[in-house]
Amino acid sequence: MAMSLGDLGKMATRIGQDAIKKTQQFADVTALKLKLEETKNVTDNLYKQLGAVYFKHCQDPSYSEALEQLCEQVAQSLAHTEEISAQIQAIQTVRRCTQCGGEIPNNAAFCTDCGTRMIALRCASCGAALLEGAKFCNECGAKNDN
Ligand SMILES: [Zn+2]
Ligand SMILES: [Zn+2]
Repeated sequence: MAMSLGDLGKMATRIGQDAIKKTQQFADVTALKLKLEETKNVTDNLYKQLGAVYFKHCQDPSYSEALEQLCEQVAQSLAHTEEISAQIQAIQTVRRCTQCGGEIPNNAAFCTDCGTRMIALRCASCGAALLEGAKFCNECGAKNDN
């Protein structure tokens, strides 16, 4: 029996969901970018409507209700666009552990997944970056008490 378009659609959705699980991060950004495109299209459409309504308003100044409504919708749509852009920005600037690739907060000193130190220890005496587990500074020889 031939598969209907609906079946194909369902299958595509299932495959899509599996892919999302595997690459959540990537999928989040992709979904957000799609959403961003959508909101931009909504704004464009509102602008077009606004143009038509404004023309009507020019011909009959008493016609202004739809104008205000549309302006409000445009403002909302622009705010929504801004919001989604900020979300994409936040995801893309996430720091990753150099060891295990896990996500870590920007200010974290250690990876929350594998415990790898994220901020190099510095020598108290000369400020040089210390090697992991070093007992003495490799720059000035000062003892490392950390
Ligand atoms: Zn890690
Ligand atoms: Zn030093």
